[in-house]
Amino acid sequence: MKKEYIIPIFVPNLGCPNDCTFCNQKKISGETTNVTPDDVRETIEYYLKNFKDDNKYVEVAFFGGSFTGIDVDVQKGLLEAANEYIKKGKVGSIRISTRPDYINKDILKMLKKYNVKTIELGVQSSNDYILNKSRRNHTFKDVQKASKLIRRYHFNLGHQMMLGMQDSTEIDEINTAKDLIKLKPKIVRIYPVLVIKGTALEKEYNSGEYTPLTVEQAVERAKTITYMFRKKGINVIRIGLQNTEEITDPKQEKSEVVAGPFHPAFRQLVEAGMWYDSIAEKIKNINTKVKTIEIKVNSEDINNVVGHKKENIIKLKELYDLDVVVKQDEKLKPGKFEINVLETFQ
Ligand code: SF4
Repeated sequence: MKKEYIIPIFVPNLGCPNDCTFCNQKKISGETTNVTPDDVRETIEYYLKNFKDDNKYVEVAFFGGSFTGIDVDVQKGLLEAANEYIKKGKVGSIRISTRPDYINKDILKMLKKYNVKTIELGVQSSNDYILNKSRRNHTFKDVQKASKLIRRYHFNLGHQMMLGMQDSTEIDEINTAKDLIKLKPKIVRIYPVLVIKGTALEKEYNSGEYTPLTVEQAVERAKTITYMFRKKGINVIRIGLQNTEEITDPKQEKSEVVAGPFHPAFRQLVEAGMWYDSIAEKIKNINTKVKTIEIKVNSEDINNVVGHKKENIIKLKELYDLDVVVKQDEKLKPGKFEINVLETFQ
C-alpha cells in the first residue's frame, strides 16, 4: 500500500473579508506574508526531497480557510504551480479548504481543471444562531448548497466543525454532526475553540461573556461526535488544532493561545477515552470479580489503549481494582481487541 503524504501550504489572510470572532488567521497559519507560486514550488520541492518512501501518494493541501475567496488570478497561479508537479507525476492531487459561501459552479469547474480532488468546507455549526453569534457571515443553507454541489462535481467533500463555540451546547454539536452526516462528507475535522490573542473572542473571554470548554469537556464532546461520524464510516482526519510555535500551551512565552482546551496530545486523549469506554463496557459484562486481565490489540492501538501518561491503566486500577497487561497481537485488526481474564479474586 502506498504511504500517503501531505504537503501543507498555508495561504493566510488572503481574500478573507470576514471577521469570525474566534479567528486570527495570521496567527493560526503561522505566516504573515502572501504566498506566491514560487513559494508553492519551493515548499513542494522541500517536502519531496525529505519524503523517504519510494512508494508514496503525495497531496498538496492549501490550508487557510478561504482559498476560493482569493483573487481568482492568484488562485490560478498557486494551483498551476502545484499542478506542474501533478503533470510531472511527482504529486497525486490537490486539496483546498474554503468557506461554504465561496463555492459555485464556475469555481468548481476551475478547481477541476487544476486537479483539485478534495474540498474542505469550514462549517463550524449547523445552527444559524451560533454561526451568527460567531460572525461567520454565512448560514447552514450555504453549507448544504455547497456540499451538494461539491459532490455533484465529484470532488471529495470534507467538513470542519467546532466544539465550544459561543452559546453552543453539546446538543447543538450533536445536531451539527447529524446534519453533516446527511450531507455525506468523506472526511471531517473537529476543532475545539481556543481563545486566540487579538480576536473578538478574547475580549468576550476577558469580560466574562465567554467561557471556553475545559480540556475534559472538550474531550467528552469530541468523543461523542467522533463516535457518530465513525459509525457512518466517515473518516475523522483531525481532532484538535495542529500544534505550532504559536498554537501551544498558553504558559509558553510565544503562545498566542489565551485560554481554552489546549492539549498537546488532544487527539490521543479522545482516542484513548474511546478505548477506555469500550474496555470498561466489556469488563462490566464479565461475571466474576477479576484481578488481572490481558488486553490484546494491534500494535497501532497500544498507545491509545494504555492512554496518555498511562491514564487508562491507572483509571482501571482505581475504579475496578484491576491490573492490566496490554499485549500486541498483529492478528487483530486495528480498532479490535480481545480481553482474557488472567486472575480472579477468590
Ligand atoms: S472565514 Fe475563515 S479565515 Fe476568514 S475570519 Fe473566518 S475563520 Fe478566519
